[in-house]
Amino acid sequence: MANSKNTFDYIIIGAGASGCVIANRLSANSKNKVLLLEAGGDDTGNQDISDIGGFVRLWGTENDWQIKTTPQQGLSEREIVINQGKVLGGSTSINAMMYVRGNRKNFDMWNTLGADGWSYNDVLPYFKKIEKYGQADSEYHGTTGELNIMECPDEPMRSEEFLNAAKEAGYKGSSHDYNSEVQEDDPSLLQFHIDKNLNRESSATAFLHPVMDRSNLTVITGAHVSKVVIENGTATGVVYIKDGLETVVCASAEIVVSAGALASPKILLLSGIGLAEHLREHSITVNADLPGVGQNLQDHIQLPIIFRSTLTLPNTTLLTGNVLFVRTRKGSEVAPPDMQINFTPSMPAPLAPILPDFGGPICIFLAILVQPFSTGYVKLTSADPMANAEVNPNYLHQKADIKALTEAVQIVRKIAGTKAFEKLNAGELAPGSANVEEFIRSQSSTLWHPAGTCKIGQDAMAVVDSRLRVYGIKNLRVADASVMPTVTTGNTVATCFMIGERAAEMILQDNA
Ligand SMILES: Cc1cc2nc3c(=O)[nH]c(=O)nc-3n(C[C@H](O)[C@H](O)[C@H](O)COP(=O)(O)OP(=O)(O)OC[C@H]3O[C@@H](n4cnc5c(N)ncnc54)[C@H](O)[C@@H]3O)c2cc1C
Repeated sequence: MANSKNTFDYIIIGAGASGCVIANRLSANSKNKVLLLEAGGDDTGNQDISDIGGFVRLWGTENDWQIKTTPQQGLSEREIVINQGKVLGGSTSINAMMYVRGNRKNFDMWNTLGADGWSYNDVLPYFKKIEKYGQADSEYHGTTGELNIMECPDEPMRSEEFLNAAKEAGYKGSSHDYNSEVQEDDPSLLQFHIDKNLNRESSATAFLHPVMDRSNLTVITGAHVSKVVIENGTATGVVYIKDGLETVVCASAEIVVSAGALASPKILLLSGIGLAEHLREHSITVNADLPGVGQNLQDHIQLPIIFRSTLTLPNTTLLTGNVLFVRTRKGSEVAPPDMQINFTPSMPAPLAPILPDFGGPICIFLAILVQPFSTGYVKLTSADPMANAEVNPNYLHQKADIKALTEAVQIVRKIAGTKAFEKLNAGELAPGSANVEEFIRSQSSTLWHPAGTCKIGQDAMAVVDSRLRVYGIKNLRVADASVMPTVTTGNTVATCFMIGERAAEMILQDNA
């Protein structure tokens, strides 16, 4: 039953990249009573979270949802574990901290696909607003936001050989910032969300901890949301389970689902929002027949290409630090680049305990398919909120995706074959003499960037409108990676922060 203790103006589900920004912005006005519900625990005092090299140790722990896919036909029937953060900060507390906004064409394409007002020029001010960029202020960077961003601080990572080799192979090779005017065809040092003390900057450290003492903000951890309560087409409350007990909390203004691209569609489905036939299969009352919920799942695939190195360099603290965005699909200049190539000149320390012994120094290229054609889905397996959903990204289902990665192997071989790279290249270890397609199918894996499962749009498969409102239900929005109509060209977190910032502004405007 509703009482003042369990009634809030706004309830946000999920304290990840987007959720923490929204909680911060909505609670900035002391008149707004805000509740943030997070299934995972506190992030403070956990050295593996704050240490920038520690996140690999968090995989498989209580801080990780460890979501397993169905066997992936395109990946030699392997089941892939998609790690996802289950802790304050969400995946920003366990991720690799690379900060890539995506290509301007990603957002212009969203706009064309029906996400009105999400073009690059529309979203740029929100990227800048959240950002405290360590280098100079510019037309493309903000320096007064909460989120510390810096160019790769890991000295052993910087690879002049890679930067010069890419230049020799025909790319620009200026001292480049890919988060500015042009993203592609110019090798750069990656940027990271890391603070000035070289600790992880997560959505929790940047947006939540500094405002935890606001009396109008309540944060409940260990609260696993099972569904949104819908009454006569209006979202009125949320049911969550904590320590085995079920609690109902009410929202007088709005509920925002920010549980990430694999969990947000699950919560909507459990709330009776989704394809009616699928809901009925699980005896769930249909509140809105929205066939797009859980569909359009897109993820980035990574493929390691490894060379034996002639140089014994110190291990790197971070996973990677040098990057080049390229186009493997010729004649597609209106589309964003489809391939991200990361380069690490030696063994990344976080991976040393889990990679095989290569019997000497190595260097690693990572080809990342950032514009996959293959799409998949998230579906319920049961009406039990604690049951795992069926997650099928359909990795490499489309032949064009295999072709793009095959082309990426050729691009890497061209870069590695330059004079500038001679010092590092003592022979290709992988794929080496292996069949390239078999290597791709047996060695590719997720880059942990699921997106697109509650997409913005105006077509029949859209789940939210351009103001992130769920079609057919009042007072309910989705704001996280799931609203992306297409996944961006580059690691997804920056865009999730931006989505949080925009969502908060829209919510405040619409409730003014
Ligand atoms: C291992 C790893 C490495 C990555 N590396 C990078 C990188 O280097 N750069 C980059 O840009 N991106 C990276 N990413 C991806 C990036 O972190 C995500 O795209 C981003 O955090 C997604 O933001 P979000 O708000 O959609 O969801 P999340 O940040 O995942 O937040 C969702 C939150 O909702 C909570 N939640 C889920 N279900 C429920 C429920 N039922 N009830 C209550 N709470 C719930 C979760 O516990 C979580 O806290 C990485 C991700 C991982 C996992």
